[in-house]
Amino acid sequence: MINIYFDMDGTIADLYNVDRWEEKLQAHDVSPYNEAKPCGNLLDLMELLKQFDVRVGIISWCAKNSSKKYDKQVRQSKRAWIKKNFPIVEECHIVKYGTRKQWTICKAKRDDAILVDDNAEVCREWQGKTVNFHNYEELVKNLKNILTELAA
Ligand SMILES: [Mg+2]
Repeated sequence: MINIYFDMDGTIADLYNVDRWEEKLQAHDVSPYNEAKPCGNLLDLMELLKQFDVRVGIISWCAKNSSKKYDKQVRQSKRAWIKKNFPIVEECHIVKYGTRKQWTICKAKRDDAILVDDNAEVCREWQGKTVNFHNYEELVKNLKNILTELAA
């Protein structure tokens, strides 16, 4: 069984192209998380993941300079976004901003799990395979190669 954990913001969810997203997050407005478009055709990605029988998880941060109340709202928004756009997810961790992802208590063993994240620093800290996300086409290509290799 292959386990892959995906980041959300800037990876599967195109938060950074939402108009004035940063300002809105600072004002504890949750709408940019709801309005973020998928970073590509996630149906193709889900098809690929199913084809290789991948168990899919999420490890994503809440907003910077948050509050308990806003974190709760962000978690609700993110979970709703996943349900709508990426329903393949079986395990979901939406943790405080800046939490080291390798410290998240995941069901899969770390060296068995692949992390997909747009943050190069976060990728470096992960103890296992990573795919540093730059764009959707590259992600699909890289994952296809990794999964084909692992399945061989
Ligand atoms: Mg990110």
